[in-house]
Amino acid sequence: MTKEEILNTLKAVKYPPYDKDIVSFGMVKYVKADESSAEVRIFTGGAEETALKIVKQASEVLHAAFLGCKFEVVLLKDDPSKKVPENADKKPAGFAGVKFVVAVASGKGGVGKSTVAVNLARTLAKKFSVNSARVGLMDCDIHGPSATILFGKKIFPSVNEVQKIIPPEMDGVKAISMGMLVDDEQPLLWRGPMVTGAIKQFAEEVEWGEIDAMVLDLPPGTGDAVLSVVQNIPINCAVIITTPNQLAATTASRGAMAFQKSNVKIAGVVENMAYMPMPDGSREYVFGTGFAEEAAKKLGVQVLASIPLDKTLQGHKISDESEKIFADIADKIMAS
Ligand code: ADP
Repeated sequence: MTKEEILNTLKAVKYPPYDKDIVSFGMVKYVKADESSAEVRIFTGGAEETALKIVKQASEVLHAAFLGCKFEVVLLKDDPSKKVPENADKKPAGFAGVKFVVAVASGKGGVGKSTVAVNLARTLAKKFSVNSARVGLMDCDIHGPSATILFGKKIFPSVNEVQKIIPPEMDGVKAISMGMLVDDEQPLLWRGPMVTGAIKQFAEEVEWGEIDAMVLDLPPGTGDAVLSVVQNIPINCAVIITTPNQLAATTASRGAMAFQKSNVKIAGVVENMAYMPMPDGSREYVFGTGFAEEAAKKLGVQVLASIPLDKTLQGHKISDESEKIFADIADKIMAS
């Protein structure tokens, strides 16, 4: 089956009350087909009842036209073309198969940006990496421990026969990190100028393959490295991490404004280390409350979640409570 054959078949589905079909209306947003199966994503807008009928009908005509083939026809809640980044046409070579990019950012270091990025990537992998790793983690924070949290140890990527970097995999996540490429003992001064170049290389020289969701762990703040990422990689949305601390929240909102200036959509603010769960079930708000909301308000976005202090987030198996919080964050990001 080819994409063209599928689109031709779908022309049999009309969008009522019009006589025009869903393909001509541009409602078929995505088709991925191989010999015996295909994935089709449709966005119709309008009444849900009609949309569901259309999806059912699309599935029926496809099954009838290609007997014995498997189809996954999905109804999209949002029009994906509305959140296409401005620089989408300038996709770096290695990102050809990357469908969605979420940048995890913070105003200052130490707020748990890397911890959130890794656990978000793992959570997305539960959704997308069913048969193979279809989630990426690109760690652009030279001081960040993303890769070490994910792999539990220092790991080195290999290079294939055409000199492309192969990202190592863990838990359904393909990851590449500055830390994998530079020696811990190198002086920081020497590392600085490498950052921008390395980020470009991550996007161009890494064999990412087909990726449904790519998580970027950005360096803290709004320095050159962050700007370089925003300019070189089409980002669908950014998530801002802060702790419930006035300075962190103010720096976070100031930093996030750089995204707004570059027209990168902010999906929301995540409040990390929000409280300490006590043995009696109560919550101790160790660092205060309300600052994340203040930051979100300034940016005109929502607080997506409040993550408690939880030691398991630093390791391999996270607690059920945190797992639920991350599943919720992942859903909100993908639907943003
Ligand atoms: P950043 O990337 O913002 O510099 P990290 O992700 O490295 O921050 O986190 C800083 C430290 O705080 C790490 O030791 C990490 O394990 C810890 N940490 C982050 N979030 C939490 C949390 N919710 N509960 C407990 N420890 C956390």
